[in-house]
This record gives sequence, C-alpha cells and structure tokens, in this order.
Amino acid sequence: MHQGECLCGKVKFQITQKITDIIMCHCSECRRVQGTAFATNGNVESKNFKFLSGENNLTEFRENDNKSRFFCQSCGSPIMAQLKNNPDYTRIRLGLITNEIEEAIEKHIFVDSKANWDVICDDIPQHKEW
Ligand SMILES: [Zn+2]
Ligand SMILES: [Zn+2]
Repeated sequence: MHQGECLCGKVKFQITQKITDIIMCHCSECRRVQGTAFATNGNVESKNFKFLSGENNLTEFRENDNKSRFFCQSCGSPIMAQLKNNPDYTRIRLGLITNEIEEAIEKHIFVDSKANWDVICDDIPQHKEW
C-alpha cells in the first residue's frame, strides 16, 4: 500500500499493491520530462491505482499516438504515464510517493545517453539502452 501526492497537494492517490519494474531511466526524454538527471518510475496495475482527489486537476500530454503523460495542472508535478495499447498498467513517478518504498530498484537504463554530470554511485545493474 502506497500513498502519493503532487507538490501542491491537489492530486492525491493510493496504490494497493507493491510497485513493480522500478527503473531509473537516464534517457534525454525522461530528463526533459522530469527536469532531472534521470526518472525513477514503476508499474502498478491500473485497477490498483486510485485517485483520492484531484483527478480532474490533471492535464494530459499526448506524447504520441500511444503514450500519454499526465501532470498536475496547478503545480506541474508529473503524476503518471499510460499506454493506449496497455491500459491495464499505469507507470507512476516514485518521487510522488509519501511513504517508504521497500521494493528494490531493478536497474539503470539508457546509461549511454545520460548527462555528463550524472554520476551513478550505486551497485544497481546498468544497461546501455533497454
Ligand atoms: Zn499539484
Ligand atoms: Zn527514459
């Protein structure tokens, strides 16, 4: 069980499962979307992801025909991404989770395209791309 919220607190959600497939992605797309060195995202089944408030305060950014990203229209916090061809899963941004995350991070990906100032200092497996 996890809870999460955006920076302004309008968007609040609850997750009733362990988060799976937790990956730190260093690709240029994730860097731009988050404004950071890398994105740390994980999967939950959409049926186990529930908004407690603020669902109507989301803005959808259609990145392409298949992928949409949702962010809080008040504070800009990135909340989640969804794929049209895989609606059963929601990809959530771990930085929004307010309780402790015990689940392990699986890997770093797109390490070959990371920013030159991004120094990886852990023993989690690294992949050049996927
Ligand atoms: Zn917000
Ligand atoms: Zn990425």
